[in-house]
Amino acid sequence: MRIVALAGGIGGARFLRGLLAAVGPQDEITVIGNTGDDIHLYGLKVCPDLDTVMYTLGGGIHEEQGWGRTDETWSIKAEMKEYGVGPEWFGLGDRDFATHLVRSQMLTAGYSLSQVTEALCVRWKPGVRLLPMSDDRVETHVRITDEQGTRAVHFQEYWVRLHAAVDAEAIVPVGADTAKPAPGVLEAIAAADVILFPPSNPVVSIGTILAVPGIREAVAAAPAPVVGLSPIIGGAPVRGMADKVLAAVGVEATAEAVALNYGSALIDGWLVDTADEASVAAVEEAGIACRAVPLLMTDVEATAEMARAALALAEQVRR
Ligand code: GDP
Ligand code: CA
Repeated sequence: MRIVALAGGIGGARFLRGLLAAVGPQDEITVIGNTGDDIHLYGLKVCPDLDTVMYTLGGGIHEEQGWGRTDETWSIKAEMKEYGVGPEWFGLGDRDFATHLVRSQMLTAGYSLSQVTEALCVRWKPGVRLLPMSDDRVETHVRITDEQGTRAVHFQEYWVRLHAAVDAEAIVPVGADTAKPAPGVLEAIAAADVILFPPSNPVVSIGTILAVPGIREAVAAAPAPVVGLSPIIGGAPVRGMADKVLAAVGVEATAEAVALNYGSALIDGWLVDTADEASVAAVEEAGIACRAVPLLMTDVEATAEMARAALALAEQVRR
């Protein structure tokens, strides 16, 4: 079976680990990763979501944190601080730095982000084909108003430095309108037997991938069933501040509202947590097959069970 999954960082990566445990060796998984979170720091290109997927599936992730490397040290950051060079609010450890150095070196030499990602994955062997959504630069910005007035900040500044404590007024994936899907992305979607939306952020992870012209259209036109899993349980994100970015696009932070926002033109099936059983009927009324199953990724086996439920629902809605 050929499975395509769109993925952000932590939610996507943890789900993919369960999916890998649920499928067999003959199944091929292609992951289309969000690059709207990418940021240039210290002259280096940092791709937080691609790296979280790569480290998680490759066994190098800091488990509790969900991002960055295990057994990390922070000498470079401390040295940069001595020079008065920030940002201090973004955590790049010594081991992680090596990834960004290799990536930046290869990009400077003329390789595309897809080629670089493939090269990094030679080391990490994530067990999936990891494709960036685009080789072109896309950077999500957030419009906020604070004591400095109304301005746009990089998504990382909004998320990591400001902890989404101010309201997001608009979310703009800068560059997305002219970005092209990376090589292999549209082909993988067209050839898929199943397309999955993990419980990733619907706005700044999945939404950004879908904002690359051609990707949303390809998913909607794909012969494969499309099934998503809700990142919202009981009216709140399981982790993080997804409610803040949902509010910016006028979507309530409920499992039902997120499903309806994707809409039946895009998704055929939707899994909500058992806590949201009451919303199943409304989602089905909107033309999306819906089931309530436990959606907490407490360990790999519980996550594998979620993946099995998603694949089973895909079978039921196969068009
Ligand atoms: P990010 O790029 O690191 O923010 O990660 P993603 O976009 O891939 O995923 C973030 C989303 O994962 C958040 O909106 C969380 O609500 C969701 N999430 C995290 N852990 C769980 C979980 O155990 N179950 C479910 N259903 N969602 C989760
Ligand atoms: Ca992210």
